[in-house]
Amino acid sequence: MPRPKDARADFSKTTKDKIRAKCNDRCAICLQKPPNQGRQCAHLFDASRTGAKQVEVAIYMGMISPGYQRSSPENGMVQCPTCHLAFFDSEHIALSPTPQVLKYIVEYLRATDAAERKPLYEVFRLLNDALEGIDVDLPDMASILPFLDLYTLVVLLPDKLNGSEIPAHHLPDLFILDGSQFVPAPADTLPNARGVARIFDVSVISDELPKAYYTIPLSPKHAEFTQQRYWRVPAKPEVILMMLMERIRGVTEPGCEEIKFARVIYCTLHLQKIGEYEVNPPNSKKRMSEDDNNERPHKVSRSGGLPLTKGRSGLRIRIPAPKTVTSCGPGPPKALRLKI
Ligand SMILES: [Zn+2]
Repeated sequence: MPRPKDARADFSKTTKDKIRAKCNDRCAICLQKPPNQGRQCAHLFDASRTGAKQVEVAIYMGMISPGYQRSSPENGMVQCPTCHLAFFDSEHIALSPTPQVLKYIVEYLRATDAAERKPLYEVFRLLNDALEGIDVDLPDMASILPFLDLYTLVVLLPDKLNGSEIPAHHLPDLFILDGSQFVPAPADTLPNARGVARIFDVSVISDELPKAYYTIPLSPKHAEFTQQRYWRVPAKPEVILMMLMERIRGVTEPGCEEIKFARVIYCTLHLQKIGEYEVNPPNSKKRMSEDDNNERPHKVSRSGGLPLTKGRSGLRIRIPAPKTVTSCGPGPPKALRLKI
């Protein structure tokens, strides 16, 4: 029986070779180099038929450009069996853009008039141009550029990973934020010092690097859980963000900082697709005054939330007033304000 079109998007041998080359033939998460058959080329958008729907939705939301191919090298990264099967495929953890980048996207969606708003894949392309020193037409982004090509590991199911860790054989160096870039930290730097992070970068690791047994902690049971870790992986941030948004749809816990930002972005993009910014029953007495009915589109709400627009359906979608949420992922707990 013939397979339905686009049922699977497996990688060809040539594509697998390209994925292994861009990952330096190592797991992009734990940096291990298992024997050849153990180095698995993991899909970002799923290889199964589900992946075709994920891509369709991502294009609809403006997250990726039309024409994205799940069987192309940009949709893959090398992972060892432990990282791939035990943690990522089982949807216990996921990669995420850093909270700094996610907050910038939230602010961009909140503050940019609908007529001028670019699809997010275009925003990320311009941010990458800015990283290379090109002038771009975006709100001030200088402070997030050092974080643009870095990612965090997000624990999706903290209850199931209580006490868990990922074994690793190479201890990445510490880096410290120095103005517009991360630079190697001085030898006496403490790993939990402010602005310091351990960066797992599969593209620069050398085969001569001595082995040092190490674990990547996945729960607060480990004393080192709060140390900041970043991953530099060969993948586009918009794809990583879309996959995070896919994975957290089934997460019912409040989640960490990255999950909260991703939820805001997901909901905002969907609301904006239907031209809605405030929801109230059309005939509710509390809905609005007559003046509200005549309110000009894109007026900023008194609460400082998103610009208000009366929806085409007659519904008015109300984006909640600013809330304070607390980080529960790796890194020191911090409070942030979501002005949506
Ligand atoms: Zn691994």
